[in-house]
Amino acid sequence: MAEVPLTSLYQELILEHYRHPRNKGELANHTVEAHVANPVCGDEVKIQILLDGGRIEEIAFDGQGCSISQASASMMTALVKRTERSEAIRLADVFTDMMHNGEDASPDKSLGDLRALQGVSKFPVRIRCALLAFDALRNALGEGLQIDSVGGTVHSDRSEGETTH
Ligand code: ZN
Repeated sequence: MAEVPLTSLYQELILEHYRHPRNKGELANHTVEAHVANPVCGDEVKIQILLDGGRIEEIAFDGQGCSISQASASMMTALVKRTERSEAIRLADVFTDMMHNGEDASPDKSLGDLRALQGVSKFPVRIRCALLAFDALRNALGEGLQIDSVGGTVHSDRSEGETTH
């Protein structure tokens, strides 16, 4: 088998984040936090953020649950750390769109490792697992749930041929 399906590479990336989560733990100082749960799967994600003006200076998560929910939290914190609040919300919207648009959507390159979760959109019951960390992010940033099915979709060139992280 010379050809490794991309989904296997993505699966490895998900497991890698699950086993070695980024930014896991508690922050010494934080300005906002949120705790969300997905009872269907038994997932829990708590995030803490240290905001400096409009910027996410530090972010950490803690939680338990399936590999998708915990890998998503790890990927999310790595992505939004040291970004502006508005950019973090934009990424949350782009990721939410990707999960709802399924495999036909072009994954936005700005999502980084989170693109590995696109295949999860095939399994409706697991979409909630993937979105949990961003629900926590939105809650912490005071955005609440803004599921906007119209607009906000970002189209970009497909990048499935790339295996860079
Ligand atoms: Zn789950």
